[in-house]
Amino acid sequence: MTDGLHIDGLFIDGEGRPGGGGVRTLRDPATGEAVAEITEATPAEVATAVTSARSAAASWADRTAGERARVLLRLADLVEEHAEELTELEVRESGKPWATFRDGELPFATDNLRFFAGSARSLEGTGAGVLSKGYTSMLVRRPIGVVGSIAPWNFPLVMAIWKLGPALAAGNTVVLKPAPTTPGSTVRLARLALEAGLPAGALNVVTGGADVGSALVTDPGTDMVSVTGSTGTGRAIMTAAAQSVKRVHLELGGKAPALVFPDADVAAAAHAIAMGATYNTGQDCTAATRVYVHRSRYADMVDQLRATMAGIRVGAPRDPATDIGPLVSLDQRDRVHGFVERARKAGARTVVGGELPDGPGAYYHPTLVVDARQDSEIVQGEVFGPVLVVLPFDDEDEAVALANDSRYGLASSVWTNDVGRSLRVGHRLDVGVTWVNDHLPIASEAPHGGVKGSGFGKDMSHEAILEYTVTRHFMIKHAASATDHASFRPA
Ligand code: NAD
Repeated sequence: MTDGLHIDGLFIDGEGRPGGGGVRTLRDPATGEAVAEITEATPAEVATAVTSARSAAASWADRTAGERARVLLRLADLVEEHAEELTELEVRESGKPWATFRDGELPFATDNLRFFAGSARSLEGTGAGVLSKGYTSMLVRRPIGVVGSIAPWNFPLVMAIWKLGPALAAGNTVVLKPAPTTPGSTVRLARLALEAGLPAGALNVVTGGADVGSALVTDPGTDMVSVTGSTGTGRAIMTAAAQSVKRVHLELGGKAPALVFPDADVAAAAHAIAMGATYNTGQDCTAATRVYVHRSRYADMVDQLRATMAGIRVGAPRDPATDIGPLVSLDQRDRVHGFVERARKAGARTVVGGELPDGPGAYYHPTLVVDARQDSEIVQGEVFGPVLVVLPFDDEDEAVALANDSRYGLASSVWTNDVGRSLRVGHRLDVGVTWVNDHLPIASEAPHGGVKGSGFGKDMSHEAILEYTVTRHFMIKHAASATDHASFRPA
């Protein structure tokens, strides 16, 4: 249960209970105060959760797509009915502004669930066909089995739904591990899923840190591991999963460039890029982080970004005037500030922000960095805070080369009123998404996922459901002669 003081560290086989592991105190990032305690899972309890998911797998896979969809639709309704409670849990653990979650992320999460419910019903192979003389082939999509899912802390409820939604829609069962500091909404969600009609064992939650996640990855009972987290975590998980040749789905870090061409509306670009850099206090894998501006518009862009970022109201999550809340923890703030300090030592300048505020809470003001080198840490590393770097370019080829000079490849934006240029440049960027004249918007129908160090696999869209299936081939002999074999004969 989640009674405000204590959160169950386990939800296994339809029942919540404390885990047998260590006790973790959860803190409100806005005040530093303790808001709850959780007793986390042990590796042995992870194995119990996987066994529970295994026991539920056959019967859940046997449900029709329509039956599975009804459960997800009911869950979306229940999330809406419990919106205030879920918002309370999310805000007090992550520090995000109340309205940002209640009126933005939560309705988006229910839209995701409803999309997955509908998408489950259009799961199909490529149909029947005669591929070899005398044989009819059918391709059928089947669930993979038990999915171990591992989520980060930046969008706890949305990430939980991106994990469980497509996996359950496709007929898999799930053991989900939220991030250690933000488990409350996920534990609550599991109970709501049971109420929505999901059979006990189809969704289990285990809480804890890397050791619990690692037990989930290496458990011989998980058939697939789906993780959203940093690139280092993805690499460790991929290495561990390789031992049993387990399928992995990796949504990892990002360092999104925004390319501003001479014909762009600089005022509109500065406003949207500043929002794209600071939404969720910059703790977003697709956040705008590197702005490359044509030299002719560079000074204007820096001025407008400085003015917009200076005006962003950093404040308490429950204050309606707040634009952005604190970072998720004091540790994260120290990490972000460390990037900024090292950038200054390396010769860059901060033209707004960049100082540690007084008082409690993990607050950090939006920070604009100029005069950084392309090969410096602040341009290449994932800061995961409200920090934006601006650099000039001279021509289109250079802009593309600078944007692609990154170990990441998740998101990007191109700012121009020339449609041809937007496509020409967009096609040359090594990323999963390119926005034109905006940065950040997403839709349930559109796939989300990256290339290079940002991982592979898609969240959202029908492609996400396909990720959680395996294509099965049935080849049925219909030839009149029993001796007429097609093996190894070209069609
Ligand atoms: P993280 O990598 O520290 O942790 C992510 C999750 O993995 C947590 O639940 C953590 O406990 C678990 N974990 C860590 N080490 C593990 C291991 N060795 N084995 C198994 N599990 C392990 O990431 P974070 O700090 O929670 O989240 C921020 C990161 O997530 C950023 O890099 C961000 O870019 C990324 N992210 C990516 C996307 C995307 O869609 N690509 C979305 C959101 C966040």
